[in-house]
Amino acid sequence: MEKQKCTICGKVIPPERIAALPQTKRCVNCARERGSDVVSKKVDIGMDADTYRDLLGATRS
Ligand SMILES: [Zn+2]
Repeated sequence: MEKQKCTICGKVIPPERIAALPQTKRCVNCARERGSDVVSKKVDIGMDADTYRDLLGATRS
């Protein structure tokens, strides 16, 4: 399996993160600081950002 590097900091993204989020191009630190690139991907699929944020909040609390 090829190593995926973070598009922001250039560090190799851990394989377990790739397994969980195959579309991600950011490491966990950059996703946390800058926002995950995967969220906007899901918005493209047909969910508006606020709905998605609500879902995330619901699963976290
Ligand atoms: Zn990074």
